[in-house]
Amino acid sequence: MSLRFNAIANISTAPETKVEGSSKITAIFGSNVFTLKTAREFLSDEAYKSLLASIKASQKIDRAMANQIANGVRAWAESKGVTHFTHWFQPLTGTTAEKHDSFFTLKSDGTPIEQFEGDALIQQEPDASSFPNGGLRATFEARGYTAWDPSSPAFIMDIGQGKTLCIPTIFISYTGESLDYKAPLLKALEALNRAAVDVCNYFDKNVTKVTATLGWEQEYFMVDEALFNARPDLVLCGRTVYGHNSARNQQLEDHYFGSIPERVYAYMRDFETESYKLGIPLRTRHNEVAPAQFECAPIFEEVSVAVDHNSLLMDVMDRVARRHHLRVLVHEKPFAGVNGSGKHNNWSMATDTGVNLLAPGKTPKTNLMFLTFFVNAIKAVHDYSDILRASIASAPNDHRLGANEAPPAIISVFIGQYLFKVLNDVKERVGDKFDEQDESMLKIDIHKSIPELLMDNTDRNRTSPFAFTGNKFELRAVGSSANCANPMTVLNTIMAETLRQFKKDVDALIEKGDKKEIAIMHVIREYIVASEKILFEGDGYSENWAKEAERRGLPNVKTTPLALDAMVTEKAKHLFESNKIYTHAELEARHEIELEKYIKKVQIESRVMGELATSHILPPAIRYQTLLVKNINGLKAAGLSESAYSNQVQILNKISEHINKASDLVEKMIEARKICNAMEDTRTKAIAYQSQVKDAFFDEIRYHVDKLELLVDDREWYLPKYRELLFLR
Ligand code: ADP
Ligand code: MG
Repeated sequence: MSLRFNAIANISTAPETKVEGSSKITAIFGSNVFTLKTAREFLSDEAYKSLLASIKASQKIDRAMANQIANGVRAWAESKGVTHFTHWFQPLTGTTAEKHDSFFTLKSDGTPIEQFEGDALIQQEPDASSFPNGGLRATFEARGYTAWDPSSPAFIMDIGQGKTLCIPTIFISYTGESLDYKAPLLKALEALNRAAVDVCNYFDKNVTKVTATLGWEQEYFMVDEALFNARPDLVLCGRTVYGHNSARNQQLEDHYFGSIPERVYAYMRDFETESYKLGIPLRTRHNEVAPAQFECAPIFEEVSVAVDHNSLLMDVMDRVARRHHLRVLVHEKPFAGVNGSGKHNNWSMATDTGVNLLAPGKTPKTNLMFLTFFVNAIKAVHDYSDILRASIASAPNDHRLGANEAPPAIISVFIGQYLFKVLNDVKERVGDKFDEQDESMLKIDIHKSIPELLMDNTDRNRTSPFAFTGNKFELRAVGSSANCANPMTVLNTIMAETLRQFKKDVDALIEKGDKKEIAIMHVIREYIVASEKILFEGDGYSENWAKEAERRGLPNVKTTPLALDAMVTEKAKHLFESNKIYTHAELEARHEIELEKYIKKVQIESRVMGELATSHILPPAIRYQTLLVKNINGLKAAGLSESAYSNQVQILNKISEHINKASDLVEKMIEARKICNAMEDTRTKAIAYQSQVKDAFFDEIRYHVDKLELLVDDREWYLPKYRELLFLR
């Protein structure tokens, strides 16, 4: 029996996985995290104070205290049955990485002991030669090391075999270049902090710290493990490269608010429990639009913690799925013709005085502060939309952006009717100057109207890539498999840059004698005028918008290799260097890495398509072809007239045509790949892979294969079909 039928037969007999009894979330929340409360318990006063100081100042641990802290962390971990530790980091491969070491060691006389030295806590040198570095370490002949980022607490991963203490780290080369997603993110958050505090101080001198906040929404698909294993394309690429639409698809739209299937529900409860133990504050779960598609979202947190938690969650989801004989797909487009998955990034900024800077204020003064940050965010996205677009570019996300289900590749900002009108009012103020009477302007009662605005659902535009949703912006173009760090690094950097410029502009007017509030209003007005072409309230999926955007001069870059160009323009280099996020060398390296990732993904998909066509598609098709030939010849030999076998001839013709076309195209695609592989320049090669391999062959080969799926005897077909992958549970 083929893997496919084995898998189908076994679904009904799949053993149910027991899920831990439902205790109160508060009873388990953070129990596997070395929180400050735990630190208080396991560390001496001295060590605790030192740790606290490092966390507050976002600085490395004091060497002198490291051994004490490490001992405390080990004591805690051992009390929970941990034997191994690892530095956990987020390399540019997009997944998380770890290398386990045990506490166990031998003293010089051979006595076995358990120990965890300060050095091992603070810094490690993973064999990192296999992580992408874009030529950085080769150029500088330096090795990479991981260093504990104390702003992110240590945690225990206890899924699967054994429990492991994980130390969240950044990954850098000995010459100081960032080799991961986390290090530049921390720099961007610091740049934003500095710039935003300066601007906040116009309004409130008590603000000394601004933190960016992130609440992500993770979409994913669930597939039965045995069916998954019978689909080499899912195993190797995370998406189906072939598969005809199921007769029933998502047209009934009954999945969205439908009840969650039992098996998936058990899985959700299980991974939620593991997440709670790790301090991930998950709050919502629901079905998504497509069959077998779901979403979860946490309460928002500081960006750096939220980024770690999302990376951790994707890992936890994958591990827990296996124990339920399920597989989770976080690919942006696992199934053609069915909605893809995204990861909305809800973003705002908060002061240490407890103010959400994107929440409309209650007094004229805080109102002006809101307007300042709101308009600066719009200006930032306007000025650097190309770089923001580059930060979400990836081979899998290309399937989504602009495919009438996700925001288009055109970056625009939606703010809703009311705020649109407010900005217009500010803009239309007559004359060049805001005089004293215009101070009435400062009293616009934004906060009163906002709740109404939120009640009005028609004002919630689902098609915008960057939408204001009442007290935060929602960046919707991020792909479901992406690490949020990259778009968050860019968003916070461009915000920092814009705010720095804002302060310069306002100060210049104040120096000329303007009153502070008037100066601020002037610059706000100037920024509204300068960035209004990015504002769009209409349907982002419509063709008219693409035309209109072109007229406005907004970029619409649909493919990753070209979108990535924006990373290495003079503008980008200046932006990232002046904010101390990336040097030119680091930017070039990252650009190279992203291009290489793109090439590899398309190359692997292309190989899988070729191999599957030859080994999984053609054999049953040819057998069926032979059967038809036998049948026709038999009927002919029996002396029946042509009309007796004319239908068979028709099917035979179709099958033969699709077999020939598919196998011809596969050969040609291999030739095209060879030409691409010989190319030296990475960018040229990536563009060639996109146009000469992916665009030139993928859809066409798939067309013929999917036709064969419809024609060939179902019992002969090896690959689980869409109806099975999406509807069996
Ligand atoms: P939606 O209708 O999009 O589901 P929600 O109010 O449920 O809207 O919020 C979605 C996400 O936005 C949640 O993860 C939530 O934590 C997050 N969020 C809310 N406020 C903020 C904020 N100030 N900063 C960042 N994220 C936020
Ligand atoms: Mg949302």
